[in-house]
Amino acid sequence: MRKFAVDLHLHTALSPCAEEEMTPPAILAQAAANGLQIIAITDHNTAGNTPAFFEAASGGPVNVIPGMEVQTREEVHLVCLFAGPDEALAWQEVVYAHLPPLKNSVRFFGSQQILNAAGEMIGTEDRLLLTSTDFSVEEAVAEVRARNGICYPAHVDRPAFGIIGNLGFIPPDLPISVIEISRNINRAGALAKFPALGRYPILGCSDAHRLAEITRARSLVSLEEPTFAALMEAFWDRRQNRIEVD
Ligand SMILES: [Zn+2]
Ligand SMILES: [Zn+2]
Repeated sequence: MRKFAVDLHLHTALSPCAEEEMTPPAILAQAAANGLQIIAITDHNTAGNTPAFFEAASGGPVNVIPGMEVQTREEVHLVCLFAGPDEALAWQEVVYAHLPPLKNSVRFFGSQQILNAAGEMIGTEDRLLLTSTDFSVEEAVAEVRARNGICYPAHVDRPAFGIIGNLGFIPPDLPISVIEISRNINRAGALAKFPALGRYPILGCSDAHRLAEITRARSLVSLEEPTFAALMEAFWDRRQNRIEVD
């Protein structure tokens, strides 16, 4: 096994709160320059740009995992990862059916750009993405698992949209493999503040909304190969902790 540098929480120009510079060529170049070997694309409640990233990364040094950051009705953010863009887009259709039928306000929230592999805008997503689905945390985790995906709480240390801040705790029977901490805290700090996190492997990711926020990986994961299947196996490996985080 080898250690792979990963950052599994990146937003693109499709997230209204992310910068328009967050295109496939720019993100992949920034990730490669920082030695990242696996990145995940996790826009808010959409996977619309994952095909472009998958295509742009093909044959290059950075492996792309298609994903999403879904928002539950408790305003908890969960990272969802899938084997390929088809699986991520199938999940997107389910999520869209569970979002309120509201339109995005570009002026208020920002634009939601659908890009091609070259980074050119080929459309916009008009539905409001920056809102909650009607899934509970338990329902979202179960739905993603039923689709052979990985689903776990994002930035659990953050008061806003973090599971501890909104539920008060992590439900002990929630079938999650790992938890993610934000870039505002390190592993030791997170464990000191939230001792219950000691039950889970801890992953640190950037949650980058602009290029400058993509830096050297905070997490190294021991894997046979840089694939979704290997990542899932590592996350669920309870014999040894295969994730190192700053
Ligand atoms: Zn979030
Ligand atoms: Zn995020």
